[in-house]
Amino acid sequence: MNEIEAQKQYMKKVRKINQNKTFKYTILTMGCQLNENDSEKLCGMLEQMGYERTENQKEADLALFNTCCVRENAEDKLFGKLGELKRLKEEKGVIIAIGGCMMQEKHITDKIKVSYPFVDILFGTHTLHKFPEDLYKALNEKKKIEDVIDIDGEIYEGLPIKRDSHIKASVTIMNGCNNFCSYCIVPYVRGRERSRHPRDIINEIKELAKQGYQEITLLGQNVNSYLRVEREKGIEFDTYEGINSFATLLKAINKIDSIERIRFVSPHPKDFTDDVIEAIATCDKVCKLVHLPLQSGNTKVLKEMNRKYTKEQYLALVEKMKKRIPNLTLSTDIIVGFPGETDDEFEDTLDVVRKVNFEQVYMFIYSRRVGTLGDRMKNQIPEEIKHRRFNKLKTLVEDQIVENNQKYVGTVQKVLVEGESKNNKDLLTGRTDSNKVVIFEGSKDLIGTMQNLKIVSEHMWYLKGEI
Ligand code: SF4
Repeated sequence: MNEIEAQKQYMKKVRKINQNKTFKYTILTMGCQLNENDSEKLCGMLEQMGYERTENQKEADLALFNTCCVRENAEDKLFGKLGELKRLKEEKGVIIAIGGCMMQEKHITDKIKVSYPFVDILFGTHTLHKFPEDLYKALNEKKKIEDVIDIDGEIYEGLPIKRDSHIKASVTIMNGCNNFCSYCIVPYVRGRERSRHPRDIINEIKELAKQGYQEITLLGQNVNSYLRVEREKGIEFDTYEGINSFATLLKAINKIDSIERIRFVSPHPKDFTDDVIEAIATCDKVCKLVHLPLQSGNTKVLKEMNRKYTKEQYLALVEKMKKRIPNLTLSTDIIVGFPGETDDEFEDTLDVVRKVNFEQVYMFIYSRRVGTLGDRMKNQIPEEIKHRRFNKLKTLVEDQIVENNQKYVGTVQKVLVEGESKNNKDLLTGRTDSNKVVIFEGSKDLIGTMQNLKIVSEHMWYLKGEI
């Protein structure tokens, strides 16, 4: 029996324990879209085991956390929540399970075992698929489970999945990372790069298309090196629909009927080859918003970060993309206050932001991560300097957003209608190709359709439109 079949048997066993009762669970997901996609798989498994989701912690029989370790505040959040759960554990014996990236860090699992000994299950990124077995053992054998292994990682297909949306779906195409950027903990907790087989990806997307999904986001730590490791190692795989790279994958997905939009996060600038640019330019369904993480605009800082490109190479890549891809918009990630960054070096980051004119910038204050090279660097930047630089960047970015938003007013944008607006149920919300939120009045029947909307006004974080 293969691993997933074995887990399906455990799902049946848990379901039997839960027979004739309605058990409820909460799930808190931290971090990136890959983690959100993992949580959808955890929810899929839980629902197969007879659990129903609730947002009310007090009525939950199982509290599940899918953690992230990219930033320090996620740790504070987890420990705060565990403190709150202690009383519920004593009062009604709620099962507490913690999984995800943070569990791959020994100093964290050690702390949980000492300070929060009431936690029932700890599982890591490489054992997520074994959650049914872990839960069964915790319920049946009433013992504490620690199921964390440190391996390069494997890919398991066929887990049930409960998606958050009926319109947009995320599809993980690869896992892990080989890049070891010096600030980043991901390669240590997610293992080495490995790609899913093209056949499994295409079949998953064809199935999503059948179910009426309109937009697909391809996920990976480094999507544009899809199948690179396999190619470099000469690993034989039976090619499927001619797919042997990220560019050919985009082209194959572009042909799938009824999928209207394709997005992807995150590519690495050093792997942005001409064939990928060509695929974005020629595939009508691939959105022309490209997320291109910059991290720093200074060549020396980039070298210290181990990013493997210079300021000039990044700008040249942007120029090449802008020339080849009509209506291209760009978003990026920037880290402020990496060890050793001087005021002048930070000015280079502002310079790149001015030159590229990003549509959206995800800004982060550098956060030390135990085990990374950046954490061992002596020249850490004082918090007040990091915050001063962050605020300067934020002001520039917000000015650019206002200016960019004004360009939309009076234009007609194709918007995928996603649902009711969170702040006003009488309005609908959707997104443009460039991922701008548009709020407008319309019938609920429009949810899940593409609409041409005239943009009538702009606001910092959204546009207002009319049919
Ligand atoms: S490419 Fe760099 S930042 Fe991205 S996951 Fe890999 S190590 Fe982390």
